[in-house]
Amino acid sequence: MTLAYAPRRDLVSKVRRRMTQHYAARPAKLAFAEPVLSITFDDFPASAAIEGARILERHGARGTYYTASGMAGVEGPCGMGYAAPDIARLAAAGHEIGCHTSSHADCAQRDVFTTLEDLAHNRDALRRMGAPAPRSHAYPYGETKPQVKDNLPPRFMSARGILPGLNVGATDLAQLHAYPLFGPGGMDRVMKALKRAAKRKAWVIGFTHDVADTPSPWGTRSDELESLLTEARRLDFVILPVTAALERRLA
Ligand SMILES: [Zn+2]
Repeated sequence: MTLAYAPRRDLVSKVRRRMTQHYAARPAKLAFAEPVLSITFDDFPASAAIEGARILERHGARGTYYTASGMAGVEGPCGMGYAAPDIARLAAAGHEIGCHTSSHADCAQRDVFTTLEDLAHNRDALRRMGAPAPRSHAYPYGETKPQVKDNLPPRFMSARGILPGLNVGATDLAQLHAYPLFGPGGMDRVMKALKRAAKRKAWVIGFTHDVADTPSPWGTRSDELESLLTEARRLDFVILPVTAALERRLA
């Protein structure tokens, strides 16, 4: 997600987006022994690396940081970006460093080869920062297209979009559903999703950017993140990074 850039909203783009979402490039049937929650941070701001990680770790949990190597140390609307040393520290603490392209470009608007180069560039930059090659991906702005979904590097076990929904049963691993942990009604919606997921033993993925007492419009209040994790534990969720959650699937 974010920010100064807005994906196209004309009719043709909307139809293409819908068709892309319905095209399952990596169909799977997901089942879990217990409900699962993954907390993911996109871009990501320094506050996610510090405050976000601190809150997760206090609950014995770890998150997934979808990292755009080009955003290291860059100030944006969600605050100052992460610093390169955050990557090795988060990875050493057991958090997952995922891919979010290096350039944070809209992958629906570029040819697939440019996107694949971008993914490789990000992998190399993250390795230099001390992270293993990412095994998960999140599309910037949630935007993608069938050719990108078809040609994702095999090392990615999953790619995440921004369409809300539970991940259980018939699922496209090339465009996992995720709930925003921000915006009007965002936290209410994910709290309700937790209750549904608890009954179905489903996988809920939440995504956000900054974490602070007074976050940006694309970020989450610290106490709301606390409440979400407390509620998830009360409902007997396991809280895992995205790839660890997938590795726990029964089918
Ligand atoms: Zn983003």
